[in-house]
Amino acid sequence: MSKNIVVAIDGYSSCGKSTLAKALAKKLHFIYVDSGAMYRAVTLYFLRNNVDLNNPEQVAEALKNIHLNFHSRDYETHITLNDEEVSHEIRLMPVSQNVSPVSAIREVRKEMVAQQQRMGQSKNIVMDGRDIGTAVFPNAQVKLFMTADPKVRAERRYKELLPNNPDITLEEVFENIAHRDYSDTTRKESPLVRADDAIILDNTNITPEQQLQFALDKVEPFLKKQA
Ligand code: C5P
Repeated sequence: MSKNIVVAIDGYSSCGKSTLAKALAKKLHFIYVDSGAMYRAVTLYFLRNNVDLNNPEQVAEALKNIHLNFHSRDYETHITLNDEEVSHEIRLMPVSQNVSPVSAIREVRKEMVAQQQRMGQSKNIVMDGRDIGTAVFPNAQVKLFMTADPKVRAERRYKELLPNNPDITLEEVFENIAHRDYSDTTRKESPLVRADDAIILDNTNITPEQQLQFALDKVEPFLKKQA
């Protein structure tokens, strides 16, 4: 096989990056990595262990004690934090409300990016996040930058969260998304920006099937070259 294909999917919070990334990986038999799950798992560890984000020694010590692993049985994200399955807990509000400041820490990013780069060294991979096309895989063959109307994003995420979080409100979800957009785009370390060569995909008014086809069309030329 010639060089492995990397598909980098970046974009704002809750605009369907992981839905597209999973569907694409499944269709193409690529590995799927949800980089946000890694930042979420680190955040969970920091919360549980009261790590002071402003204390570099505590942050460095915590990072040494964090071991993350993906188990992608069915293209769903199964992530373990020090051998404990945390896939459900990392989606709950306490983590969502604290993940942006944790992911803005330089040392945290350095460690996560190094781990992510190792995962994409030799295998065909789809990775979604905020800095995949800019910092993790600047040479990715296909880069997509996803966006959608913030109200539509909040409604989609609200429907997703409601079954497991019956007390949640649409306003709360909207606020969290707006807040994360703001922090992710304005932070100093690897802010969310579109790579110059990333293709914009606005999915406000298109179906998951249409966005999958859009992405497949972008990857196809590279599959032909690899064949
Ligand atoms: O993708 P998801 O919404 O689960 O990501 C959670 C948070 O992790 C984001 O709001 C962002 O702060 C951070 N993140 C990041 N870089 C990535 C992926 C996620 O900073 N590559």
